[in-house]
Amino acid sequence: MELPFSESYKIKMVETIRRSSRSEREQWIKDAKYNLFNLRSDQVFIDLLTDSGTGAMSDKQWSAMMVGDESYAGASSYHTMKAAIKRIFGFDYFLPTHQGRAAENVLFSVLVKEGDVVPGNSHFDTTKGHIEFRCAKAIDCTIDEAFDTTNQHPFKGNIDPEKLEKILKQYPKEKIPFIILTLTNNTAGGQPVSMANVKEVSALAKKYGIPLLFDSARFAENAYFIKTREKGYEHKTIKQIVLEIYEHADFATMSSKKDAIVNMGGFIGFKSQEWFRQASTYNIMFEGYITYGGMSGRDMNALAQGLDEATEFDYLETRINQVAYLGNRLIEFGIPIQQPIGGHAVFIDAKKMLPHVPKEEYVAQTLGVELYLEAGIRGVEIGTLLADRDPNTRENRYPNLELLRLAIPRRTYTNNHMDVIAVATKNVFDRREFIKSGYRITWEAPIMRHFTVELEKM
Ligand SMILES: *Cc1c(COP(=O)(O)O)cnc(C)c1O
Repeated sequence: MELPFSESYKIKMVETIRRSSRSEREQWIKDAKYNLFNLRSDQVFIDLLTDSGTGAMSDKQWSAMMVGDESYAGASSYHTMKAAIKRIFGFDYFLPTHQGRAAENVLFSVLVKEGDVVPGNSHFDTTKGHIEFRCAKAIDCTIDEAFDTTNQHPFKGNIDPEKLEKILKQYPKEKIPFIILTLTNNTAGGQPVSMANVKEVSALAKKYGIPLLFDSARFAENAYFIKTREKGYEHKTIKQIVLEIYEHADFATMSSKKDAIVNMGGFIGFKSQEWFRQASTYNIMFEGYITYGGMSGRDMNALAQGLDEATEFDYLETRINQVAYLGNRLIEFGIPIQQPIGGHAVFIDAKKMLPHVPKEEYVAQTLGVELYLEAGIRGVEIGTLLADRDPNTRENRYPNLELLRLAIPRRTYTNNHMDVIAVATKNVFDRREFIKSGYRITWEAPIMRHFTVELEKM
């Protein structure tokens, strides 16, 4: 008999989580104005709000923290991180930052000017925010297959080279500071970009003389999908694949809260000293001196160790298999999810799951509240609340898809937890005929309303 798959680690430290009763949850979510962000974490049993900074560090990361060097300038921890970034990505220059959006803020301060356009694959929301804040425009060139949840394309994160070239032809070179490739494409559902696409985009960037930036939060998960789905890569190691990807980068921004498996941290990697020097000034202003930039020495040590662990095949196989395990259980129950299953989360198609809730009553949010009431599970709405209102008309912008994202923290929950999530979701699905109404807004902020919005039942 073939041995079943199991995790590539064992557990050394645990944290207690507490089940609650349905009546407790009814009160808590009402007090939270039906906004899952407003819950206290001890009111949540299984927390799938995000995979960002919520993973479990390893024994080696914790021991690296104990020997962190907290010198202001030239700390050994800085040099440890520098060596790891050179080894994993091949960058000669880097700047530490306190998280991914800080890396964007520093780098874009050098590169992005008013009136610029930045083509890419479904820019992440903070990335788009930092572009638009500078009165420039983010142009999404993701392939059309990405927007159909049932399409089984293996690399739905890809850029469409025709859409990209159209932009490169349309605007003068000076108006395009860089092309951005997000690995994996978070907004499209944790969907990977193929090596062939990396090379195609890189060739177009060279042809038009435009630099290429990799938004790298889930670069290791992306490399895993290249190894397991793309011909010619099955015998390469994850570390070899990552180096091959980053041969094509001029710079990278990184949220280390994802694939460096730390709770806080980020960095910018550069090939050229000139860009590094220009960005250093902004790093000193916004983040801190160039050898710590918003991070403690101990955190830089943990990050360096995390980069090594996240690029090991066994770790990634455990990680991606757990997400797939949950996704496949949901599929078995007939629950409509985005396919193929992505790297860090499962996305439930809320309009298909709750067909009677009108779109004006926030379908994915309604599903999120139902799943919380069912079992104390917290997901996050990727729907109309997140899409927010049109800046001019102030009317809701209804997106094509209403999704509930269940993001899986790294090395944190077991497959028994995945079973609880799957069965709880099935229970909500089984009573979908009785869920006929959603919520109305009683208070909302002028922008980014989803974090703080207050709702009441219809
Ligand atoms: C999380 C994330 C960011 C922003 O990073 P933070 O560490 O949250 O500031 C940028 N891009 C992508 C693709 C991300 O997933």
